[in-house]
Amino acid sequence: MRPEVTELLQRNSDHVRQFQSRFDDIQDVQLPEAVTVCCSDSRVLQDQMWGNDEPGRLFTCSNIGNRVVQRSDSGDVVSGDVLYPVVHTQTEVIVVVGHTGCGAITATYERLTNGGSEPAGISHCLDLLTSDLEPGVELLPAGLSRSAAVNRLVEYNVDRQIERLEASDDVPSAVTLVGVVYDFQDVYPGRRGEVHVINVDGETAVDELRDAHPEIDSRIERLWEY
Ligand SMILES: [Zn+2]
Repeated sequence: MRPEVTELLQRNSDHVRQFQSRFDDIQDVQLPEAVTVCCSDSRVLQDQMWGNDEPGRLFTCSNIGNRVVQRSDSGDVVSGDVLYPVVHTQTEVIVVVGHTGCGAITATYERLTNGGSEPAGISHCLDLLTSDLEPGVELLPAGLSRSAAVNRLVEYNVDRQIERLEASDDVPSAVTLVGVVYDFQDVYPGRRGEVHVINVDGETAVDELRDAHPEIDSRIERLWEY
C-alpha cells in the first residue's frame, strides 16, 4: 500500500483512541448548531478553524470555491449538501467560508481575464463561479496585483453565495446567514488562521455590521467595499 494511505490509517487509529467516548449521545441523531460551507483547500481546516472536535456540532460541506448552489434542470438551486441540515436537523445558521489565495477563485479570475480550459468537472464548478464573479471583475479597482484582485474576489464570491441563499425559497427566513474569509496569508489585519466576518444576512458594509453586532465588532473586517 502507498505510504500515504498507510499514514492515513495510522492517523485514523489515533482518532479511534481519542473518540471512543464522544459518540454516546449522538449515535442515532444529529442536531448540528451550524452548517459551514468551506473551500476544499487543504490549507483550510474546516473543523479546526472553529476549534471543533465534537461530533454532531457542525455540519461541514466543502467544494472548490465554497459554492452553495448546484445547476439543475430547473436552474440553479441551493445544493442539497447545504440544505440537508436546514431541512432535516433544525440547523438555523449557515456560514460560508472563503479564504485568501483561493485557487478556484484564481482559476475563475484567469478564465474571465485570459480564458483557459480545464477538465469538464472543474469547468462545471468554475461555470457556477464565473457567472457570479464576472460583474466583480468589472468592478475591481485598477492597478491591483493578481493576488490583491483574487482576495477581493474571494469576498465578492462569499457575498454572492450569501445572496443565493437569501434569494432561495428553500432557505427559511429564520436562518442566519454569515459570510467569512479565513486568512492564513497575512492579508487582513490579525493573525494567521483568523476568520473575518464580511457579511451577515446580506449586509456587507463594515460600519453597519459593527453597529449591528458590537459583540463581534473586532471580528468584522473587509478588504473591499464595492
Ligand atoms: Zn479555495
